[in-house]
Amino acid sequence: MSSPEPARLCLHTITTKTWAIEEAMDKYAAAGIGGITVWRQALAGRDVKKIGGQLRERGLEVVSLCRGGFFPARTESEREAAIEDNRLAIREAVGLGAPMIVLVCGAVPGQSLADSRTQIAEGIAAVLPLAEEHGIRLAIEPLHPMYADDRSAINTMASANAVCDLLDHPLVGIAADVYHIWWDPDLAAQIRLTGEKKRLFAFHLCDWMTPTTDLLNDRGLMGEGCIDLPGIRAMVEGAGFSGWNEVEIFSNRWWASDPDDFLARIVGAYGEHC
Ligand code: ZN
Repeated sequence: MSSPEPARLCLHTITTKTWAIEEAMDKYAAAGIGGITVWRQALAGRDVKKIGGQLRERGLEVVSLCRGGFFPARTESEREAAIEDNRLAIREAVGLGAPMIVLVCGAVPGQSLADSRTQIAEGIAAVLPLAEEHGIRLAIEPLHPMYADDRSAINTMASANAVCDLLDHPLVGIAADVYHIWWDPDLAAQIRLTGEKKRLFAFHLCDWMTPTTDLLNDRGLMGEGCIDLPGIRAMVEGAGFSGWNEVEIFSNRWWASDPDDFLARIVGAYGEHC
């Protein structure tokens, strides 16, 4: 496996969350990064359209808006509020010029995963007309099973593919994040299937630390952990994926470090370990 193309490196703003988006866009562009996935909290209090223009002025392609989802809830009014928030995310994506929204689908502790999956499919179906109106793709991100209680009832590529099959819509696909799926014995076959169905929309990179000290915020920089990143990239590219390689690292450890140094390490690790 040859090194990944530098021009296809995209960074999630959450990875350098100590920088405001105005600072992040200058730093990313200066580092030669070509793509940016914008987390919604980075847009708080901003004119979304203006930010989109500033990103493009710096030569950054807006890859996706992160994130929508969290559809399941105990009450109908909460589910309706979640749907409304996803519609708002679609409008933000339109303003920003992002062609895709990543969905962390949600789950409710104590509610059956089957019920949550039904509510997820219903929620996506409810926002699809607006997504269709604007041509915004919706990428379901399966989350590692350790998040099945409260973050997502979609925990494998197979489970994400099942929702895609049910909705059967060209704007509904999958974001494959190595952190969540690297352990899956069915991974190669599922990635192949996802590619065949033309629904492999996004590819996210980081690494799995041993030991992992925080369920959410202890992701590794590529090369620090145990994930076979070139192996999974080979599967993804073998399935026809030619989109962005998105680096998405939540890490209390790296967030506490010097962000300029971290950014340089990300660019280096991307070339060396992916
Ligand atoms: Zn991800």
